[in-house]
Amino acid sequence: MDTQITAFILDVFGNDPPPEIPGNLESVYRGLGRPVDVQRVDGPPGEDLLTRLHRQSEGSEWVLIGHGDSAFYSLHECRRLVEAVLKYDNDWGFAENHPPGIVFDMIRRSALPVMENLRAKGKLPYTRPFLGEILLQDVNLFDLENLYSDVNLRTLRLSFFPDSPQDRETLRAIAGLLDGKAWNVDLDWNALAARILAHRHLLRVHPKYWEIETSTRCLQRCAMCPKTTLGDAAPPAFMDPATFDALVGRICQFSPKPVLALTGLGDAASHPNFLGILAAALAHPVAEVLVETSGADFDLSLADQIMALPGGERLSLIFSLDAVDPKLHAELRPGERPLSAFLETVEYLLLRRPANTWVQAVKMNENFEHLVAFHKHFQRLTPNIIIQKYNPWRGLLPERRLHPAVPFDRIDCWHLKRDLVIRVDGTVPVCKQDLRNEHRLGNAIHEDLETIWARGQAHFEKHLAGWEFCRGCDEHYTYNY
Ligand code: SF4
Repeated sequence: MDTQITAFILDVFGNDPPPEIPGNLESVYRGLGRPVDVQRVDGPPGEDLLTRLHRQSEGSEWVLIGHGDSAFYSLHECRRLVEAVLKYDNDWGFAENHPPGIVFDMIRRSALPVMENLRAKGKLPYTRPFLGEILLQDVNLFDLENLYSDVNLRTLRLSFFPDSPQDRETLRAIAGLLDGKAWNVDLDWNALAARILAHRHLLRVHPKYWEIETSTRCLQRCAMCPKTTLGDAAPPAFMDPATFDALVGRICQFSPKPVLALTGLGDAASHPNFLGILAAALAHPVAEVLVETSGADFDLSLADQIMALPGGERLSLIFSLDAVDPKLHAELRPGERPLSAFLETVEYLLLRRPANTWVQAVKMNENFEHLVAFHKHFQRLTPNIIIQKYNPWRGLLPERRLHPAVPFDRIDCWHLKRDLVIRVDGTVPVCKQDLRNEHRLGNAIHEDLETIWARGQAHFEKHLAGWEFCRGCDEHYTYNY
């Protein structure tokens, strides 16, 4: 007698695939060559999705769970998974290093209540990767089958679900590589993966992360900051709030739901109208606003005013402290205020907006021994502790790491692929590492953003071919969004 399998197509996470590349999961289920009861589950997921799947699969020994909005499920790879799970009689089979949207999950039906129990205990919401998150709660509860891909695309961070504008454009670019052939009939995954690797220049689709320099003033003179090293003697400059407001409006039109990082060679909090800048940013449909600050301009009154800003839940404040020892802090971040003044504001904010307040230390020789004490100090107050990689800015600053850890193989630069940097006067350099604006893409205040972004493509292609400019840079693998 054939094994009973219920195959679910989840349409619960609310994304429509691009119309020209509709989901193919049903045809993959039908192509498995086994009797499967295919059921479509519409959204929203609610709080009882797994319970529903359990109820709807009564009489089956196995369930297959995939999503209706990927056009790229691979019949060949999915069949491999099903055969392996049945052969070894596992509880749960999943793809280990295929990008999401290529292989469904295969789960023993009797494991579904166990999974729901883990999810409820861990208070996990139903989001796209809910299966993987449940598994991480306790991998030892299940007998697992991992399916490995021969071609590893992990560093490309691909997703075959249309979850963001960038993902949708990437899917269109990849669909273009198929030459109109039906995906699950004529091509196998390894062939497509190899083609993607040969066409990596197509994966620079749309910016997501916008670094905007609104202020070039900073009250500290830190040795690990290029501003100090460059001996910047120019008077401080500030972006006019109205100019900033108009710029952010244009960014949101070009790049829906952008992430704005108010950063650059200055401290955004040193802007004379910092609150006006924040209010303007949050008034637009941006996904998130990040401010990385020394904290030197903060006091409790400013903290209160920030907390009163509408949309403040989209604002993350990152305090770069580097040390909680007063002497070391003063050495690393010379300025006028004592450490106690910084800690007062940071701890005030950590108590009142714990989800959106972060503390940060750059890991370098000067504070390496101290980082445990730094972590212990803040661990009592928050899990939001960032230990940041030191950036020698393409060799402009001295090396401050005993053992710089970088990938053996260079990774296609995420900053070229997803970021756009805008200096205080609107100048757009090729990337954040181009401190002297040697490779200008244009001016974001005066020129069309799409045109500026398009100019970066030639630099990305040079980068893929081993561009000299990138040789001394080890920021390529640092990933923002
Ligand atoms: S590798 Fe470094 S220098 Fe080259 S584009 Fe990326 S961030 Fe810029």
